[in-house]
Amino acid sequence: MNIHEYQAKALLKGFGMPVLDGRVVRSPDEALVAARTIGGPIVVVKAQIHAGGRGAGHFADDPGGKGGVRLARTPDDAQQAAVAMLDSTLITRQTGPAGRIVRRLYIEAGCEIARELYLSLLVDRATGRIVIVASQDGGMAIEDVAAATPERILKEAIDPAIGLSDYQARTLAARLDLHGRSIRAFTTVLRAAYEAFVSLDAAIVEINPLVVTGSGDLVALDAKMSFDDNALFRHPELEELRDENEEDPREREAARHGLAYVGLDGTIGCMVNGAGLAMATMDIIKMEGEEPANFLDVGGGASRERVAAAFRIVLSDQKVRGILVNIFGGIMRCDIIAEAIVAASRETGLRVPLVVRLAGTNVERGEEILSHSGLKIIPASDLGDAARKIVAAVRAEGVA
Ligand code: GDP
Ligand code: MN
Repeated sequence: MNIHEYQAKALLKGFGMPVLDGRVVRSPDEALVAARTIGGPIVVVKAQIHAGGRGAGHFADDPGGKGGVRLARTPDDAQQAAVAMLDSTLITRQTGPAGRIVRRLYIEAGCEIARELYLSLLVDRATGRIVIVASQDGGMAIEDVAAATPERILKEAIDPAIGLSDYQARTLAARLDLHGRSIRAFTTVLRAAYEAFVSLDAAIVEINPLVVTGSGDLVALDAKMSFDDNALFRHPELEELRDENEEDPREREAARHGLAYVGLDGTIGCMVNGAGLAMATMDIIKMEGEEPANFLDVGGGASRERVAAAFRIVLSDQKVRGILVNIFGGIMRCDIIAEAIVAASRETGLRVPLVVRLAGTNVERGEEILSHSGLKIIPASDLGDAARKIVAAVRAEGVA
């Protein structure tokens, strides 16, 4: 689960992260009041969407215009910026061409910037450890730094048995060319990020930029956090930070039914049991030259209702131009799958070609249910056959 910048800053502040005074607003009038309350010579108006690159982005109705991070010299300026940004679509290199509608703004005190650093914590799957990534080249996309000057990216793994040690923080501070009071400030920043990461079961904490001010203090000017969905049950307080506007509606519906579903950009909807088989199915669709529209594992002993819900989600996805069902009935019975497919298709309507490959428990009964359903279903004998058939069917429809 991802959260907004202002929410991440509030959480991190609770762990001692230095952040500036700010207010979240949902209207230009609120922006005016917030800018007055914060005061100072400059406030910054920041679009709150679950995507980075806002500063360098642009609004759909103003292609050559300003981005989603704007400096305002007066409360009136802040109000005007809010008028321009709210309910408009912000396009950044992370949103894709469709962009995201801005519904909230963060009004924050201005900051005097001497240097912009990069800092993030994430789980390195290869070592199974939390890794600190830091760079002197903050404020820009870290992917670009990694591609152009990989030597300017510093990495430091944290031993889970020892935790973050002060010496690691000080060593990193020195490698970031920090001096004097900035070294202790960096230790505080890193400890706050680490404590937040571990206690909230985060998947990523990213501060870009981490700013060094003229007086040598450090400030988290931007913050991104995302959490491990499998650990969210341990943090009911995080659930209220969820912004459903920012989530894929297909994934939201799937989560309601306890399904493992990831929305993708392709055209072939997949319904499979078992994560390994689901991945193999996606691979073989790609090998046949098409792209999967989703990853969907209906799980082991799923009920007829759950399978029907899964099939409905795939059916109702407007990007889907063909569906491949690939079930190996072990604990899962093929007749239950067949009944669920028939029920969901009757209810939602089957508007695209459907290829079904069933194997295992009660396969004959399953095939019988499908062939007597009156639905136009293309049977397949194995996975390769199924992938070839669905790709051929989708391409035939495309030409017609
Ligand atoms: P992002 O583009 O989505 O990553 O949004 P950021 O919060 O990182 O803002 C982008 C850039 O705006 C930062 O790298 C800063 O250079 C600049 N910026 C943000 N806040 C301030 C501020 O208070 N003063 C100044 N001068 N620049 C700021
Ligand atoms: Mn940023």
